Amino acid sequence: MQDFEFHRPENVAGAVTAQKRAKDGKFLGGGQSLIPVMKLGLAAPSDLVSVAGLKELRGIRREGKDLVVGAGTTHAEVAGSAEVRAAIPALADLAAHIGDPQVRNRGTLGGSLAHDDPAADYPAAVLALGATVQTDRRTLAADAFFVGMFQTALQPDEVIVAVRFPLPEKAAYAKFPHPASRFALAGVFVAKGPAGVRVAVTGAGPGVFRSKELEAALGKRFAPDALQGVAVPKDGLTGDPFGSAEYRAHLVSVLARRAVAACG
Ligand SMILES: Cc1cc2nc3c(=O)[nH]c(=O)nc-3n(C[C@H](O)[C@H](O)[C@H](O)COP(=O)(O)OP(=O)(O)OC[C@H]3O[C@@H](n4cnc5c(N)ncnc54)[C@H](O)[C@@H]3O)c2cc1C
Repeated sequence: MQDFEFHRPENVAGAVTAQKRAKDGKFLGGGQSLIPVMKLGLAAPSDLVSVAGLKELRGIRREGKDLVVGAGTTHAEVAGSAEVRAAIPALADLAAHIGDPQVRNRGTLGGSLAHDDPAADYPAAVLALGATVQTDRRTLAADAFFVGMFQTALQPDEVIVAVRFPLPEKAAYAKFPHPASRFALAGVFVAKGPAGVRVAVTGAGPGVFRSKELEAALGKRFAPDALQGVAVPKDGLTGDPFGSAEYRAHLVSVLARRAVAACG
C-alpha cells in the first residue's frame, strides 16, 4: 500500500476543507471497502480524511413520518437499533446480514452508499424505500444518487451526513448471499409506501436498479402470486463464474416473491 497523509478533522466542515486541500484525498468511514481496495492497489489516495467518529454523522431518530439514520452509523448499530426495528424492521434485518461481525462493527451506512458496490445491500433499501441522501450541501433523491457501477452523484469533496427513509406501509428484503463474502449474488428489496410500490434489485446488474416489470405487477396487486409468470429480462444483467445472467434473472423473480411474502 502506498503512503498517505491521515487526517482526523473535528467536524464535517473540517473534513471538507481537508479533502479540498488534498491532492487526491478520500474520506474514510469504517474502512471496510476502501482499505481492501487500497491493499489491492486499486486506489492510492494521497490523503485519508476520517469521517468515522464525527458527531454530525451519528444518531438514529424518528422525525415525523421519516426515520433518519446518521451516515456514520455502523451496520451493527442499525441491526441492533430498537428505533430502526420498530420503524422499518426490513432495514434492521438487511443490516444484520451484511458481511460478518467484523464488517458490521466497522462498516457504515454512508460508506456503503458512497462506495456503491453493485452487490451491496443498502443501495437496494435506499432506492426501494425512496429515501433521500443528505450531504453537507444538498439533498439527493435515491433515484438520482446511484449513477452506475461504483458511481454516485457525490462530488469528491462531498460528505454524506444522513439518510432520510420515509416509513413504508410494508417492506422486506430477500437476498441470495454469495457463500464466501455474503454480498448479494442477487437481492431484492420491495416496499409499499408513500411513493407507491417500489422494487430495487442489487447484485444482479452493474448497479442497483428498479424493476419496472415487478413494480407494475405488484402495483396492481401486492401479493406473491401477482408475480406468477412475470419474467425479469436477462439483458444487461451480470453473468460471471458465480451465476449466468439467466440464472440471476430467475433469482430476482424468486427473491421478489419471497420478499413480498415476508411483508405478510
Ligand atoms: C469481507 C467483507 C464482506 C462484506 N460483505 C458485504 C455484504 O454482504 N453486503 C454489503 O452491502 N457490503 C458488504 N461489505 C462492504 C461493507 O458493507 C462496507 O462497510 C461498506 O461497503 C463501506 O463502508 P465503510 O464505512 O467501511 O466505508 P469505507 O471503506 O471507509 O469507504 C468506502 C467509500 O465511501 C467513502 N465514504 C465513506 N464514508 C463517507 C461519507 N460519510 N460521505 C462520503 N463518502 C464516504 C470513502 O471515501 C470510500 O470511497 C463487505 C466488506 C467486506 C470486507
